[in-house]
Amino acid sequence: MAKKSVFKACKNCKALVDTDKETCPVCGSTSFTDEWDGMIIIINSESEIAKITEAPKPWKYAIIIK
Ligand SMILES: [Zn+2]
Repeated sequence: MAKKSVFKACKNCKALVDTDKETCPVCGSTSFTDEWDGMIIIINSESEIAKITEAPKPWKYAIIIK
């Protein structure tokens, strides 16, 4: 199974969400895309990587949204 059929990416915050979900659990957006690539998992929102990616909270995020 391809990863793109498992998750969709929020166009607002890049959070990866199960395809059967209708709203983003991170930012509440309802705008998603299946055209994403790469995955980053933020465990600690105070970490350097979270600051670089501007991830609003610990979650899994797409690196690239096409
Ligand atoms: Zn979002």
